[in-house]
Amino acid sequence: MKATVIVIGAGHAGLAMSRRLTERSIDHLVLERGEVANSWRTERWPGLRLLTPNWQTRLPGCDYAGDDPDGYMPVTEVAATLTRYARLVGAPVRTATTVRAVRAARQGFDILANDDVISARAVVLAAGACSLPAVPPVADAIPPSVTTLTPFSYRGPAQLPDGEVLVVGASATGVQLADQIHRSGRPVTLASGEHVRLPRSYRGRDIFWWLEATGVLAERHDQIDDLARARHLPSPQLTGTPEPITTDLNALAARGVRVVGRLGRVAGGLAQFSGSLANTCTLADLKMNRFLNRADEWATRSGFDDELPPPHRFAPTHIAPRSPLELDLTTGEITTVLWATGFRPDRSWLAIPVLDRNGHIRHHGGVVTEAPGLYVLGLPVLRTRASTYIHGAAADSEDLANHLRSFLSGGGVLPGPAAALR
Ligand SMILES: Cc1cc2nc3c(=O)[nH]c(=O)nc-3n(C[C@H](O)[C@H](O)[C@H](O)COP(=O)(O)OP(=O)(O)OC[C@H]3O[C@@H](n4cnc5c(N)ncnc54)[C@H](O)[C@@H]3O)c2cc1C
Repeated sequence: MKATVIVIGAGHAGLAMSRRLTERSIDHLVLERGEVANSWRTERWPGLRLLTPNWQTRLPGCDYAGDDPDGYMPVTEVAATLTRYARLVGAPVRTATTVRAVRAARQGFDILANDDVISARAVVLAAGACSLPAVPPVADAIPPSVTTLTPFSYRGPAQLPDGEVLVVGASATGVQLADQIHRSGRPVTLASGEHVRLPRSYRGRDIFWWLEATGVLAERHDQIDDLARARHLPSPQLTGTPEPITTDLNALAARGVRVVGRLGRVAGGLAQFSGSLANTCTLADLKMNRFLNRADEWATRSGFDDELPPPHRFAPTHIAPRSPLELDLTTGEITTVLWATGFRPDRSWLAIPVLDRNGHIRHHGGVVTEAPGLYVLGLPVLRTRASTYIHGAAADSEDLANHLRSFLSGGGVLPGPAAALR
């Protein structure tokens, strides 16, 4: 079987690309191992809401049109939105079709999907950046008496055994889960390493309004000084809730969550936490304030000051003086460890040597230059900082579809580096 282009994955990124290819009359198929929006249906915990406001859930040719633009979408609504979108754009999705291998072939690529081999001149990998939980090696030393979970296996507080919960990781997932579990009445300790602190809103506007207005989200991959670092930055300490709330460490501590430093080691059942929590928090406060300064400067420059409440600053992160450096996991007090230590893509089926030593795909703004005709979409800071979020796929898919079209019309000759950039 043949197709000109195979898109792997029917999440928002694969669907956006499908729309772009249809606009260009490029014949393609979208292969999806589950249903449309599979990751939102099967891999996210039930209480999750987007941390980006509804107005920002923009896909090519389809802006948010609901009656709650400032709300935060529950995960079920995300799945429903993407399902409607797939129908709207007429995406040729083959569901229940698992890609088991992608190999280079004489004329492009061979894709092993279920038990069929499909030949294609180009392949777009839109299989997700967060397909697997990233659990650190220290997990192996957790005593077997303690239940361990990841965001993939966590289904809600009711599933947890009685007792205290240690949430490891204080980025978006960790702060959300620590807050949710604590509200269910359990004691929670949150181990926080490097993190990105942002308020839910500032001067009356959601923080994503500011990130967009100031141009931060539009910063391009080839203009960012330390791109590798930008691509691996922790997600901000933000939560989507029915009513906007801030979930930084101060807010969580005020609600009763115990905050400790980064989990460094577990030895003899003793969990040992870094003593540099105060420094890590000072750095996060500094970076937040740097962004707020930039926001204020932008507001003044753009004549927005009269429309907005005056600038202000948030209290520095307060660290409890007796924050423990060790916790004994064998006493039966802590009964669950929840790894909120990030996610990673699954590239196990990619049989083309384009991965670096950390397993990350080498690409230039989504163009895999070492394998002409291969593209990747839906990764953090792929082409701009907005690429990390759903709405970023609109511009990314447009740019990559243009590149792909010239690749196809050039008879397989890759356009020059300038075309790879924009
Ligand atoms: C917990 C969490 C919260 C997030 N919150 C937000 C948010 O608030 N706002 C925001 O903008 N972004 C958010 N994101 C980030 C981002 O939007 C998601 O990672 C998004 O799901 C990525 O979209 P995607 O289309 O690239 O990948 P996915 O949605 O993961 O879609 C990939 C698809 O590929 C399929 N697939 C994978 N492997 C194969 C295979 N071998 N064969 C066939 N099909 C395959 C999967 O089944 C899946 O349907 C969040 C991410 C996570 C993990």
